[in-house]
Amino acid sequence: SGETTTQTNGSAPEASKEPVEERLQLVVVEGFQVGRGAARIDPSDMARLGCQSGDIIMIEGARTTAAKVVPSAMVDRGQQAIQMDSQVRQNSASGLGEHIRVHKAKVSTAEKITLLPLSGGAPIQESDLQYIARYLVGLPVTVGDLLRVGTPGTAPREFLIIGTNPATPAYTLQSRKTGELPIVENHGQGSEVEAVLVQPGTVVRAQARGANNGAPKRVGYEDIGGLGKELQRIREMLELPLKYPAVFDRLGVEPPKGVLLYGPPGTGKTLIARVVAAETKATFFIINGPEIINKFYGESESRLRSVFQEAQRKAPSVIFIDEIDALAPKRAETGGEVERRIVGQLLALMDGLESRGQVVIIGATNQPNALDPAIRRPGRFDREIALRVPDMHGRMEILQIHSHDAALANDVDIQRLAHLTPGFVGADLESLCREAAMIALRRVLPYIDYQRGYIPYETLVNLNITMADFQAALRE
Ligand code: ADP
Repeated sequence: SGETTTQTNGSAPEASKEPVEERLQLVVVEGFQVGRGAARIDPSDMARLGCQSGDIIMIEGARTTAAKVVPSAMVDRGQQAIQMDSQVRQNSASGLGEHIRVHKAKVSTAEKITLLPLSGGAPIQESDLQYIARYLVGLPVTVGDLLRVGTPGTAPREFLIIGTNPATPAYTLQSRKTGELPIVENHGQGSEVEAVLVQPGTVVRAQARGANNGAPKRVGYEDIGGLGKELQRIREMLELPLKYPAVFDRLGVEPPKGVLLYGPPGTGKTLIARVVAAETKATFFIINGPEIINKFYGESESRLRSVFQEAQRKAPSVIFIDEIDALAPKRAETGGEVERRIVGQLLALMDGLESRGQVVIIGATNQPNALDPAIRRPGRFDREIALRVPDMHGRMEILQIHSHDAALANDVDIQRLAHLTPGFVGADLESLCREAAMIALRRVLPYIDYQRGYIPYETLVNLNITMADFQAALRE
């Protein structure tokens, strides 16, 4: 207090270095391979912030988050710009070309962090948590951050960080008017910890979700929306032979072996196949066309054979072949020896299938015309079902399905949402609902018990997804 190191009137002869500025305004620019949890800025900006490479900075976008700062490449310097890892950018809710503020973070080692699994899927195992903990080592996190991480052998899953110890503020999404920098109210005043750094000893916990502890939900016909009469056809075609093979025997007719589902991505082809298998208690096998060609290169045919053998042994079975066009392209056009052999193998396996309807093959494609016509002959994929982009009514049904388990506020108008979403397929509508739920969740973050890293029951009960949440999700 006695010393005068602050510079007031611009003339400060004793200052040899540039003064450290508390906050800098930077423009968000695209960056490639920025590195997990990192942000790249000009080293001279780093110096102005009083930071060194590897330090943690807070990024104040429409939401505040933390990142590890690293120097930008030579060519990107001198532009007061920041490049962020995509997850960091998502957590800072900032878009390319927008301005954000940065400052050096007050960080502390994380003793514990608590995650809320957002997507369904298999229950989180202790080994998954250990994997996530290792994955996060060296990275800063804040309460309200979204994490996307794939545990070994699973598709990436999303988690929301709902608690840290010591606690960081719960950074929520600020509304942002165009051209204006958001006013971030809780950017960690005083000695408060703004972000915690995950270290090898950090304990990572998951809060169980709902009553079934995050166990995968059994899927059923009620999970498919917008198909109207098509669903009835699908059931007749697939369910009858799987469930009542004797009917076909008695009538002396050949049960269908293969059904082709075609339509744009995200219209529910995979979902339908899964539901049919679940509803008929059939074993479900999935073959991915491009994967079997590329990943099992040289073993594609033996791989196909073993799936068919397994399916017969574990009948009743459903074999779902996704992107079958990759596996069975028009032979005349590709002329490739490999493809020819694989198509040949698939046809031979289907022709040789003596399952009396107990093994059904469902093929899915976005481009039915790219298929080898031989696979659509009688006795093979001889039935087809077209899936279309849902209409207004279909979208309503699908929105209802995906918001079914969620607590919706009274003002949520599904019909209006369906009206606002022309061209959305089932997968788009599902992610809209998920996004809206995320926004709602972030709104209640301030009421979470961060010390214990858990959402109190009353908060969960009062947590509603509002129409405004859906509208915000639509804008993202
Ligand atoms: P496709 O196989 O046609 O690309 P998916 O079945 O993988 O599409 O769809 C992805 C997700 O989108 C599904 O798991 C489901 O949650 C949602 N979805 C897609 N279509 C529908 C639908 N008709 N009804 C309800 N949900 C749907």
